[in-house]
Amino acid sequence: MVSGTAIVWLRRDLRLIDHPALIEASKHDAAVCVYIDDPAREGAWPMGEASRWWLAQSLESLSKALEAKGCRLEVYQGDTKSVLTALVEAYSATGLYWNRLYDPMGVESDKAIKHHFSNLPSAPELRVKSFQAHVLREPWEMLKKDGTPYLVFTPYWKNFQNCWSAPQKLEAPDALSSPAKSADLSHCPPKSLAPDHGWTTKLADHWKPGVEGGMQRLDHFASTRVQAYETLRNRPDRDGTSALSPYLHFGELSVGQVVRALDPSGEIPSGVGALSFVRELVWREFSHYLLFHFPYLADRPLKPAFEKFPWRSSSEYAADLLAWKRGQPGVPMVDAGMRQLWQTGWMHNRVRMVVASYLTKNLLIPWQEGARHFWDTLVDADLANNTQGWQWTAGCGADASPYFRVFNPVLQGEKFDPEGLYVRKWCPELSHMNGKAIHQPDLATDLKAQRQGALDAYALIKKG
Ligand code: FAD
Repeated sequence: MVSGTAIVWLRRDLRLIDHPALIEASKHDAAVCVYIDDPAREGAWPMGEASRWWLAQSLESLSKALEAKGCRLEVYQGDTKSVLTALVEAYSATGLYWNRLYDPMGVESDKAIKHHFSNLPSAPELRVKSFQAHVLREPWEMLKKDGTPYLVFTPYWKNFQNCWSAPQKLEAPDALSSPAKSADLSHCPPKSLAPDHGWTTKLADHWKPGVEGGMQRLDHFASTRVQAYETLRNRPDRDGTSALSPYLHFGELSVGQVVRALDPSGEIPSGVGALSFVRELVWREFSHYLLFHFPYLADRPLKPAFEKFPWRSSSEYAADLLAWKRGQPGVPMVDAGMRQLWQTGWMHNRVRMVVASYLTKNLLIPWQEGARHFWDTLVDADLANNTQGWQWTAGCGADASPYFRVFNPVLQGEKFDPEGLYVRKWCPELSHMNGKAIHQPDLATDLKAQRQGALDAYALIKKG
């Protein structure tokens, strides 16, 4: 037992199992968990509305789970370093622990907090440690033979499998007792972090944030869906994917826990469906890896030539951007996707690619505009995955879809929503149309002209 109180600084690890920081704290006489709402720490990417709605619910649920163990969750608003300094002092803390993050702001605050508290004259006994818990592999662990990062997914995935190490389960600590008296600092109820925006209230019809909601989805997927994943994962009209993305983002489920749900050994599964699913989890790893190695990616393209891409000007595209956000461009798959996003805070991956391609290649609107809108409205908004998804679709990222690959939303609809069920669900005004006709092939001429516009613009940057 380590004497004194430990502070666990929580961010995107809102769970009790597979939580090394919490385990470390449980070796102390007492522990307090802390969440600090500090938008300045997030730099240019403070949490969007949908994320804040999720966060508030999730913290509420975590607070109850911790309370059942005898531990308190204290939520603060303010500057991270100042709040932690005040807490270390108030609790005469002997430990400060957290799990690492890999986006630029996460890395920066990890470094700053470690440096500050490892050298704090007023608390020389303080043990300061961070842990790996958000990804299966640390991004610096896997480089090419020449020592540079992978830029293509297939060799990365191959190497990932060769170096696979089964994620071991870390049980939740049995008990964690908090000091009887809380620090004399003003903390706030988790619910106060929720946005004051009527739009978010409808998200509760579709989601149950917190560990319990995540476990329900994981059990459902692992027991009834994973076998057909490879066949159905591109079908937005079917319940074919896991919908675990927000739980993984907020760390209500650990990625190791998701892997072990497919095969308790944690080894790479051999079934086609499960393997294909693990491959997607490794896309998540790849996105985090890229953002770690290229921290500017959230704002700038990986391929520098795209900095000069002749996008339309904001005054030219303002009306088209608004119509896209509202799900009203008049292209059924795009309208349906954007309305699914607005109604539920989530969109199927195939449709994310279709709407992103439409925005960047048909409307010639910069991908950053789309990424910002997703950031605000997705419950799974994740800087690494979102950046990678947008740059991939726009053709300017790592291993990107080639620029001349312009998704045709009509053909995509016919292929992946063959009976029109998806479009019919989100665009009821089209429900009178039968079968495939709902995807409106008469739009094809417009789309062809737009595609040509995109290719002409690309030719300009290719020439340099
Ligand atoms: P499943 O198919 O069940 O996959 C399981 C998990 O693997 C997901 O929960 C996710 O964590 C990960 N994953 C799956 N596909 C990808 C991928 N292509 N890249 C990285 N990780 C992946 N994902 C986010 O989590 N947050 C985002 O903000 C985000 N923005 C995107 C923007 C665009 C333009 C595109 C094309 C994709 C984006 N994605 C994002 C990736 C992907 O669309 C979602 O992860 C997926 O749709 C989530 O649904 P699911 O949990 O049912 O996925």
